[in-house]
Amino acid sequence: MVTSREFGKTRLPLWAAGFVVLICVAILGLSAWREWETRDAELRNAETDVANLAHSLIQHADDTFELADTILVGLVHRLELDGMGPDTIEKLQTYLPTRKSSDRIRGIFVYDETGRWLATTEQIDFSRLNNSDREYFQQHRASPDKGTLIGRPIKSRAGGQWIITASRRIDRPDGSFAGVALLTIDVAYFVKFYERFDVGPNGSASLLNNDGIMLARSRDESSVFVGRDLSNAPLFREWKKRPAAAVYYFKSPLDSVQRLSYYQRSSRYPLMVLASKSQDDVLTPWRRAAVTRVTFVLGLVLLIAVIGYYLVRQLSQRQRMAQALVANEAHFRLLAEQSSDMVTRIGLDNRLLYVSPSCQRMIGWSPDELLGTSAVAGIHEEDMERVEQAITALKNGEAEEARFVYRQRHREKGDLWVEAALHVTRAPDSGEIDGVVAVVRDMTEQKDLQDKLAALATTDGLTGLANRRAFDERLAEEWARARRDGTQLSLLLIDVDQFKKFNDHYGHLAGDGCLRALSRILSAHARRPGDLAARYGGEEFALLLPNTDQEGCAEVGEGIRQALHDLAILHAQNPPSRLVTASIGAATSFPSQIATDCSALVAAADRALYAAKDNGRDRLVMSGQVVPWPAKSA
Ligand code: GH3
Ligand code: MG
Ligand code: MG
Repeated sequence: MVTSREFGKTRLPLWAAGFVVLICVAILGLSAWREWETRDAELRNAETDVANLAHSLIQHADDTFELADTILVGLVHRLELDGMGPDTIEKLQTYLPTRKSSDRIRGIFVYDETGRWLATTEQIDFSRLNNSDREYFQQHRASPDKGTLIGRPIKSRAGGQWIITASRRIDRPDGSFAGVALLTIDVAYFVKFYERFDVGPNGSASLLNNDGIMLARSRDESSVFVGRDLSNAPLFREWKKRPAAAVYYFKSPLDSVQRLSYYQRSSRYPLMVLASKSQDDVLTPWRRAAVTRVTFVLGLVLLIAVIGYYLVRQLSQRQRMAQALVANEAHFRLLAEQSSDMVTRIGLDNRLLYVSPSCQRMIGWSPDELLGTSAVAGIHEEDMERVEQAITALKNGEAEEARFVYRQRHREKGDLWVEAALHVTRAPDSGEIDGVVAVVRDMTEQKDLQDKLAALATTDGLTGLANRRAFDERLAEEWARARRDGTQLSLLLIDVDQFKKFNDHYGHLAGDGCLRALSRILSAHARRPGDLAARYGGEEFALLLPNTDQEGCAEVGEGIRQALHDLAILHAQNPPSRLVTASIGAATSFPSQIATDCSALVAAADRALYAAKDNGRDRLVMSGQVVPWPAKSA
C-alpha cells in the first residue's frame, strides 16, 4: 500500500522541478514587468517634456498673434476714423515702418476695396501690386466680420518667403467694405524659435491652425511642410471630440515617424501647437539598457535552469536508488525475519544491533530484550573463549567468515547446540569493517543424532560394550600412554566355551542372552575409569586394564570367570561343569620396555587364550605361564 507520504516523496523531484520553473518564470516575469515599468516611466517623462514644451509654444504663439492683433486693431481703428484719403495714406506710409519694431512682424500692409496696395512697411514699388486674389482679401470682402483673420501660410509677394497672415476688414462709416489691413509674420520666425528646444533628433514642434493647415514646423528650413493640409489626419478628424490639450500618440503623416506628442489649442486664436518626440528616440537609451539587463537576467535564469536540472536529476536518481534500497532492505528483512535461523548483527562493541524474531523460538528471548545486550551472553562457558576469539579475529580482519558449533543457553530449556555462520560487514562508504553478521541455527537434534551415530560407531549393538574398533583405538591410546608413563598395561581376552553347541542346543536368542549376561559381568569388572570392556568379535570379549600388573590382571580375570560360574547358566554340552564357562587369556606388558606395538600384547593374550582352551577350558592363563593339565576345577 502506498501511503500519501510515500506518494509525496515520489513526487519530490517533480515538485523541485516545478519550483525551479516557478523561480525562472518569476524572475523572467519580474524582469519583464520591471522593464515595462521603466519603459512606461520613460514615456511618461517624455510626455511631461512635450507637454511643458507645448505650454511654452502656445504661450509664444498667443503672444505673437496678440501683438499682431493689437497693431491691426489700432491701424484699422485709425483708418476708419480718418478715412482712406491720400493725406491719411501718406501719413500712414511714414508711420507704418515705426510699428515694425520687433523681428516678429515681417510686414504691415493696407489694401483698398479693390485689393490695390495703399501702404506698406516694405521698401518696394507697390503702385501696380494688387492682392484682391488673396483668400483673406476675398474672405473680408465677403464677410462683415470685424475679427482678426489668421490665414494660411503663403509666399510673400514682397520678399518671396513663407509668411503667415493676420488681417482685419476696414469699413467705411456706412459699414461698406473699404479694404483690408494685413500683418505678416515670417514662418521662419517660428521655425527659428522652435529650433531652440531640444526634442531629440526626430522630434518636432509645429504650429497649425484649427483647420489642420501647418503654419510652421521646426526643422523645416526648406519649407517642405509649411502650408500642408493635415485636416485628414486623425487628430483633426476627431477635432470636436478631443480636449483642448492632451497627450497624443500618432504616426506622422509627414515623415512616418511614430511620435508621442502633446497638443494644445490656443484659447484666444484658432491655433494649436503640437510638440512631439520620436518614440524611438525616447526609448532607445532604455532599449539599450534593457537589452543588457535582460541578457543578464536570461543568463541568470539559464544558470538556475541548468543547476536546477542537475539537482532535480540527482534528486530523482537518489530517490530511485533509495527506493531500490528500501525494496532491497524489505527483501532482506523478509528473508531474515522469516528465516527459522536466528539472524543477528553484532557491532564492534560486541553488542547486538539487530536480532531476527526467530530468537524468541530459538532461545526464548524476544528481539527487544536482546537488542543492545552482549552478543556472547548465554554461551556455554566452555565454548565462550572459542567464540570470542572467532569474533575478534573477524573484527580484526583476520578472516572474512567463520563457522563453529557451540552451546547456547535457552531461557528455559537449558543448553542447545547451535551452529553459527559469521561474516564480517563493512561500511558501504569507507569499506571499513563495522561489525559481524551471524546466522545461528539450532543444531541440538543434529548434535543428538551425531552423538548417537558416534556412539553407534563405537558401541556393540548386542551388548552395549565398546566394539572392536573402539577397542583397537583405545588399545593404541593406552599403549602409547603406558609407554609414555612407564606403566604396565594388561589385557584379558575372554572366549565362551563350546558356544557353538550352546547355540545349537538352546538357540541363538538364548545365546544372545548369554552374551549379554557375560557383558554385564565384564562391565562390572571394569571398575576403574580407564578400564575398557569390549566385544572383540562373536563370543569373544576383551577387557583392557591400564596401569594394572600381572596379579591385578589375573585377579580381575579370575573374578570374571568365577562370576560367570556363579551365574550358573546351564550348558549341557559343556562338560564337566555343564554350565556356561569361559576361557580367559591374559597378558601384561611394559610398553616402555619393548620395541613392538600393541599387537604384541593382543597376540600374547591370544596365545594365552589358546592355551586356556587347549588345557581344558574354563580357566585363566596368564601369558608366559605354564598351565597344568587338567585344569584346576573351579
Ligand atoms: P570353543 O570352546 O573352542 O571356543 O568352542 P566354540 O564352539 O565356542 O567355538 P567356535 O569359534 O567354533 O564357535 C563360536 C560360536 O559362537 C559360533 C557362533 O555360532 C557363536 N556365536 C558367535 N557370535 C554369536 C552371537 O552374537 N550370538 C550367538 N547366539 N552366537 C554367536
Ligand atoms: Mg571363539
Ligand atoms: Mg568359544
